[in-house]
Amino acid sequence: TLRVFSGMQPTHNLHLGNYLGAMVNWIKMQDTHECIYCVVDLHAITLWQEPKDLRRHIRDVTASYLACGLDPKRSIIFNQSQVAHHAELAWILNCVARLGWLNRMTQFKEKAGKDKEAASIGLYDYPVLMAADILLYRATHVPVGDDQKQHLELARDIAQKFNVDYAGEIEAAGYKDGFFPLPEPFITGPATRVMSLRDGTKKMSKSDPSDLARINLVDDADTIAKKFRKAKTDPDALPSEVEGLKGRPEADNLVGIYAALAGKTAADVLKEFGGSQFSAFKPALIDLAVAKLSPIAAEKRRLEEDPTYIDGVLADGAARARAIASPIFRQVKEIVGFVSA
Ligand code: ATP
Ligand code: MG
Repeated sequence: TLRVFSGMQPTHNLHLGNYLGAMVNWIKMQDTHECIYCVVDLHAITLWQEPKDLRRHIRDVTASYLACGLDPKRSIIFNQSQVAHHAELAWILNCVARLGWLNRMTQFKEKAGKDKEAASIGLYDYPVLMAADILLYRATHVPVGDDQKQHLELARDIAQKFNVDYAGEIEAAGYKDGFFPLPEPFITGPATRVMSLRDGTKKMSKSDPSDLARINLVDDADTIAKKFRKAKTDPDALPSEVEGLKGRPEADNLVGIYAALAGKTAADVLKEFGGSQFSAFKPALIDLAVAKLSPIAAEKRRLEEDPTYIDGVLADGAARARAIASPIFRQVKEIVGFVSA
């Protein structure tokens, strides 16, 4: 079977990068795959979260999932901490993953900042927990943004090493091609890496302290307009060919955003806007973004009036996730050599 797993951290509301880099593919894959979409709160606490904010963000992100078009009947939508096997499998995989592999992870280096000694061990271990999330469901496809590519490769390495280390037990249990399928990254579309509106060399992030750096899915029309108007650009007109965007990260980013929202290629967008100044392009971008995002914001506002419904979606999702995860995890324990009651 084709099974999708992916998640987002409830560290803040979702933004345009989350939407264009991952969510657009999540929505499409509901038609072709069995989909499991998680709100990864265990990941969120790798950096400090105020408990009352975390609680709110978990419900907010869930409501945004639904508002974007995830269907809780077709897809499993749940909250990571409600399914205990994620943390349990992460422990076992901690003993499979190698220190040298984790030392190469660039996200840790960025998020830990200068004082690595003061980072939480959870932040360092983040990629192993992510591997556990995926492998716990024996998922085959993982739609994410470009920034998660390295973590996905690590998840494949962990799956591969588990399959090799325990090959004897795995074969004896009747699995011919290893126990964990190697999960395929699914990173496609014209905006797999949306950049900050303030700095074209940094990705748009929930954790960026400047709210002007990102378009949140809940931003109203005025806020969207203000943020794009203030977005950093260079003084030149837009080129008429994609090659002309080289070395112009801010222009490249805004054209990519337009293309992704319009469902076009960057080349098409430049056919239309090549030669235009940003003063002409930005209003078109604002209109398009407002048209695409305001229905999502409106639906999210409607959903957040009923937190009982949101909590119900998460409870139902957790039960369905557990039903898939439990037998897989039981098998993992057996393969490793644990004795079950
Ligand atoms: P944080 O700053 O807390 O890490 P984030 O903005 O990076 O938040 P995540 O929850 O870590 O968001 O990531 C959720 C999904 O969104 C992942 O698939 C990730 O690859 C994708 N994603 C995050 N930022 C971007 C971006 N700027 N462009 C495209 N995809 C992105
Ligand atoms: Mg992130």
